[in-house]
Amino acid sequence: MNGGTEPEGSWRLQDVPCDCCGAEAADVVCTGFDRLHGLPGQFNVVVCCECGLARTNPQPTTESLATAYPKSYGPHQARPRAVAPVGFLRWALVNYRNYPLGKQAPVLVRWLMRPWAMLALRRRRVLGYVPYEGSGRLLDFGCATGKYVGRMAAAGWEAEGIDLSPEAVRLGREAGLVIHEGTLPGTDLEAESFDVVSMWASIEHLPGPMATLKAIRGLLRPGGRLLIACPRFNSLSAKWFGSAWYGLDLPRHLTHFTQATLRQHLEKAGFQVERAWSLRRPGFIRRTFGQLADERGRVIHGWLAHSRFIAGLLGLIGLVVRRTDEILVAARRI
Ligand SMILES: [Zn+2]
Repeated sequence: MNGGTEPEGSWRLQDVPCDCCGAEAADVVCTGFDRLHGLPGQFNVVVCCECGLARTNPQPTTESLATAYPKSYGPHQARPRAVAPVGFLRWALVNYRNYPLGKQAPVLVRWLMRPWAMLALRRRRVLGYVPYEGSGRLLDFGCATGKYVGRMAAAGWEAEGIDLSPEAVRLGREAGLVIHEGTLPGTDLEAESFDVVSMWASIEHLPGPMATLKAIRGLLRPGGRLLIACPRFNSLSAKWFGSAWYGLDLPRHLTHFTQATLRQHLEKAGFQVERAWSLRRPGFIRRTFGQLADERGRVIHGWLAHSRFIAGLLGLIGLVVRRTDEILVAARRI
């Protein structure tokens, strides 16, 4: 399996310094290969000796990055469906998150219903419904085909997305969404015009996340909010499975954040972290077992890849010790 297919385009690796502090000195902590698409070679994950940020090094050059995402890359193929929130979720968004989807209930009703609403709004799949504020303008960075953009537009936001993949952008636009092709920095969106910017599983793919965070800061109005979700490099799963952990996704993931190094990055880029959540991702654990089953041919891994119970249990252990597979952070532009 290792070193399988020849790359379709240009393929070159280069040494890069730490994106946070610029230091070059780093220790190799893990070595793996491309388990998803079989690009040739071994890839090192190193940890900066100065600030502790982990990165893939060497990593694909900017020109080679497109090669790391073959046409079959899943997120670039899914057609977005814009489904508006309904039922109790819709009611909770109107009353406790200020969504412009209806009239708010009387104060007493809102006070009485609050505990149930908070339970409903705390679910992982619902956390993306960020509180509605300002003029309701939102940008999803690295939006792929625009699944989240469509969802937020249907919930009342003036939502837009931006992605580098022409194919993904085309699919998003066909679905009627506002999707910009490109990346940040490098796109002439109006400065200080967004209330919220989101990055769902995209920051780890960037060759220079610090430059992107600074560009996003320029697009947000003062006090605007940034939401970032990414794999947690020091999760229990990463410790248990090493380079086989699905959240590592070498060589597409270039920076590997912990909650501490993500906070450090955000503060240096001019943000203040408001809140962090530990997100369970049983799917990461099942896919990790799936990759191990493909690689080693053991029946037990194949069985574990299909066991929702085991993945759920391991995810729960991660939640108890706050070392889940994924981090979600909300930060304010300062
Ligand atoms: Zn560093």
